[in-house]
Amino acid sequence: MVETRENYEHILTQIIRNQMVRSAHTKEEVFSILSVIPDPEIPVVNIQEMGMLRDVQINDEHGFIIILTPTYTGCPAMHIIEQDIRMTLHTKGVYPAEVKLVYDPAWTTDWMSDVAKAKLKAYGIAPPLHSSCSQDVFAHNIIECPQCHSHDTVMISRFGSTACKSLFQCNDCKEPFEYFKCH
Ligand SMILES: [Zn+2]
Repeated sequence: MVETRENYEHILTQIIRNQMVRSAHTKEEVFSILSVIPDPEIPVVNIQEMGMLRDVQINDEHGFIIILTPTYTGCPAMHIIEQDIRMTLHTKGVYPAEVKLVYDPAWTTDWMSDVAKAKLKAYGIAPPLHSSCSQDVFAHNIIECPQCHSHDTVMISRFGSTACKSLFQCNDCKEPFEYFKCH
């Protein structure tokens, strides 16, 4: 076959078209693929249980659009999560795909599933109360000790290992523990 410019352009068009072909995954499959990705700060819960993975949109022009809402603005873990998402999609052959960070509406602890809250507790972190809780819950022995379930607890520090947690101590078992602040 003679290599004409027309032939070349035909091949090029085919290559471009082939790249734009979307992998045959459904929205549910992509959700399920991504739900294995752990929260880098609390590895026992995944990004879907945390309510960070908001939506998977399928678009003819851009392919799969992963809608992600960060738990806290400027949370350094977001870069790790984005990388994990890209790597996981690549490994599982989901293409083309892009990650879109959405800050509005802002993430709230109310988006955490009950499963996530139960896992947090089993991990030793007191799960957040409903976001409507006021700051004075700290003074009223409301936060339950994840070790012995006593409510006789006291806040030691407003900030724990990360800004989204407070440090508490249980007056019964004397164990310190973290409380995931409602937000
Ligand atoms: Zn206790």
